[in-house]
Amino acid sequence: MSMSAGVLVVEHIAAGIVEGDHIAGTLMVFPEKKDSREALLSMPAEHIAAKIAELVKTVAAGSAVAAVGVGFPGIIREGIIDESPNLQQIKGFNLRVAVESALATDRARIPVRIFNDADATAAGIAATRGTRRKLSRVWTLGNGVGFGRYPWSEGAWEGGHSVVTLDPKENYCGCGGRGHLEGILGYRAIRLRFLDLEPEEVFANARSGDARCVEFVTRCHRALAAATATSIHMEGPGPFYLTGPNVNWIDVGTLDRLVHDMVKMSALQGSRFEVIPTNDDLGIIGAALNATASAH
Ligand SMILES: [Zn+2]
Repeated sequence: MSMSAGVLVVEHIAAGIVEGDHIAGTLMVFPEKKDSREALLSMPAEHIAAKIAELVKTVAAGSAVAAVGVGFPGIIREGIIDESPNLQQIKGFNLRVAVESALATDRARIPVRIFNDADATAAGIAATRGTRRKLSRVWTLGNGVGFGRYPWSEGAWEGGHSVVTLDPKENYCGCGGRGHLEGILGYRAIRLRFLDLEPEEVFANARSGDARCVEFVTRCHRALAAATATSIHMEGPGPFYLTGPNVNWIDVGTLDRLVHDMVKMSALQGSRFEVIPTNDDLGIIGAALNATASAH
């Protein structure tokens, strides 16, 4: 069976070898230290590409790799990062060429493909659950809010930037746009909103009844429900998966109820939410499978 490599770039870089639809061997992660959300924010684009190539070489350990897939946050066009609101330094950078060059030897050039990170995760979920024939949608909750779908389809699909409020004061989104989902639920945006509290404290305080935090957590759920309802109204009902480092902030029962209030047409009923605890495996598997499929 041919081996491919998958890489997921989120708050850190994680890489692994994929055989069939599972990870073979151990993952390599940079930086190794947990809880270093800021590590990539100040890293130049060339260094990120070099680090990706270094991790791929380490996990491959000298074995031949047929293709490399990289899941990266932002709008990707033919290997170029057109937009990445939370990693601004890489805007316009041809990540595919940079990683391919770093991996190339005199004898071989391994094809590298770049995908949106949430799309890679959606592909990984579809592959590991055997639901490749159905439309799967994913929200990834981290520094930003990612939206992914499988099957992959041409388009921007920046669901995290769905407008969920007309309030002109809502301007915390990393992209600069007003009223966006990510401007409410993104980690970076919550920090900007609550200058006196870390996001984790906001959600902890809400659980113990602090009125300001309770009100905000309700708004987070309404925002995510609104963006989901828009997706249902555009593409129909189906499963929505929630994952990412901050997925434990979301109460699925509340979210279900809110979406039910927002989507009333009978033909559009039947969506459901499922939480998948944050892990790098699905994005790595999805990136590798998508790369293998598009490199041949
Ligand atoms: Zn935005």
